[in-house]
Amino acid sequence: MMNLELAARPKAVLFDMDGVLFDSMPNHAYAWSHAMTQFGLEMTAYEAYLHEGRTGSGTIDILTQRYWGRDATEEEIERIYAAKADLFNTLPKPKPMVGAFEALTAAKELDCKIVLVTGSAQVKLLESLEQHYPGFFCEELMVTGFDVKRGKPDPEPYLMGLEKAGVKAEEAIVVENAPLGVESAKGAGIFTIAANTGPLEDEILKKAGADIVVPGLKDVADLFRELRKS
Ligand code: CA
Repeated sequence: MMNLELAARPKAVLFDMDGVLFDSMPNHAYAWSHAMTQFGLEMTAYEAYLHEGRTGSGTIDILTQRYWGRDATEEEIERIYAAKADLFNTLPKPKPMVGAFEALTAAKELDCKIVLVTGSAQVKLLESLEQHYPGFFCEELMVTGFDVKRGKPDPEPYLMGLEKAGVKAEEAIVVENAPLGVESAKGAGIFTIAANTGPLEDEILKKAGADIVVPGLKDVADLFRELRKS
């Protein structure tokens, strides 16, 4: 069993949402790749996972730079993002991630504040947090796509999460699944557990700076339980 080597007793655990609390990434990857392709911007689902967490316009610009040699216009961004959102909304509702409830429970048992840090601004998904994880989250301890100017991989969202929780970086742990999310968390100076719930290689998450890479949320729960014993 791997142990968490932390500088201080954790006071807060900052959870990412897509790919951590909800198994929503297959839908996002499908919607991104199909929407982009409609506009002649070929994107695989795997690449969508690589860009997970980036803002919509940031993702679109990477593709338009590659295929059109320029950034997208505001109007193009709006149209492509709307196509992506439309596709996403036709897909079955994402299920809670296996083991996430356990991980949240174990974090709570460590007397940690639970903070949400997501780039998502999907109102429905935020609503279903309360439905599937009742009592774990409160609005004061949420950082969403509505709050931040610079999304992941910028450290801003995680710095904001620390501020909302009133804890220092060394008193927090982040649970992420995506390379850009890990980069953001590490940029904020926080110990980061990567739960590799998608198709990317562990190596990509390690390179992004993850302190530990585990296969899923059950393993995150185990790590927290170990920490409680230590
Ligand atoms: Ca994520």
